[in-house]
Amino acid sequence: MSIDARIERLAAPWVRALVPYKVEDASGLLKLDAMENPYGLPDELGEPWLRVVERVQLNRYPDPMSTALRNRLLADQGLASPFGVVLGNGSDELIHMICVAFARHGACLLCPEPTFAVYRIAAQAVGLEYVGVPLRSEDFSLDVDAMLAAIVQHQPAVIFLASPNNPTANHLDGTALEALCAAAPGLVVLDEAYYRFAGTSRLRDIESIENLAVMHTLSKVGLAGLRVGALFAADTWLDLFERVRMPYNINALSQAGALFALEHADAFQRQIDAIVTAREILAAGLREIPGLRVWPSATNFILLRTAPGRGTTTFEALKRNGILIKNLSGGHPLLEDCLRVTVGTPKENAQFLGTLAAILGG
Ligand code: PMP
Repeated sequence: MSIDARIERLAAPWVRALVPYKVEDASGLLKLDAMENPYGLPDELGEPWLRVVERVQLNRYPDPMSTALRNRLLADQGLASPFGVVLGNGSDELIHMICVAFARHGACLLCPEPTFAVYRIAAQAVGLEYVGVPLRSEDFSLDVDAMLAAIVQHQPAVIFLASPNNPTANHLDGTALEALCAAAPGLVVLDEAYYRFAGTSRLRDIESIENLAVMHTLSKVGLAGLRVGALFAADTWLDLFERVRMPYNINALSQAGALFALEHADAFQRQIDAIVTAREILAAGLREIPGLRVWPSATNFILLRTAPGRGTTTFEALKRNGILIKNLSGGHPLLEDCLRVTVGTPKENAQFLGTLAAILGG
């Protein structure tokens, strides 16, 4: 029997229907596509970091519970029992764990759309039904009535709300959270991957809203390479996710690195402040380019729309000029001709602005 025939016979149809997540090759390009922090480790932390790395025992398995890191995260957020945190190899793994935990026949994952693609990918990988409820087309705000109707209709096991949202860069309606949680039969996960660029978080709401969990990540702060995400919730929810977590999912270097970063949070905060300042300068520059729609951003990226039919050609022209951003055309009907650019250093942003103005002016 051919390999294809064996797969056809044995692999689940919903897995066979998946398309692998594709990341554009950024070799040799100015990388403004993935919401990374453009700055490396703050200069003053170079030596101290090497001393931490030296002490990591690579011959031993890491602490399976990441105890020191969890305790530090909880202390920083002022949380204590009966609330806790589960860590993932990036938020991506947490999303996957949540989907595995809720995967059963007929179960459903619901989220507003457009949003972060991994919710759908993770749901479909485990056979969860995926339901997307469109955001309002004009300002990408949450359509609360449509969400409530979808909750009644689909009875989702889990709802994902990214706020601020990727790729729309806006906060979803804050007052809606209570209403959605009250209506939801299962868990509501508020994904606050970008909260540091917005300056606000609803994390402490897990203490008053029983079916709310809040997810953070170190990726956008400047540590995307470490892959550390954190899911905060009542311990009872976390006990469920612990059952599907692989024992050593946070490697020793990541545990040590994340802890080190939290101990030096001030240095990273200065980078975040610089990115927020640069974001506003970049947005102002973009608004001066005729024919571009620029949405307000509470994140470290900006959503743009070109004139009709020019999104993909603009993306490609930027690439030919050595700049990689994200082309959103084709990803969702509301995102035709939309582009997403990550805020870089002031110099990178100036290069991007100049190149884009030349492309669109020419
Ligand atoms: N949530 C949102 C809303 C994101 O945009 C991203 C990354 N693009 C993630 C989660 C994934 O973060 P991590 O690197 O922690 O897996």
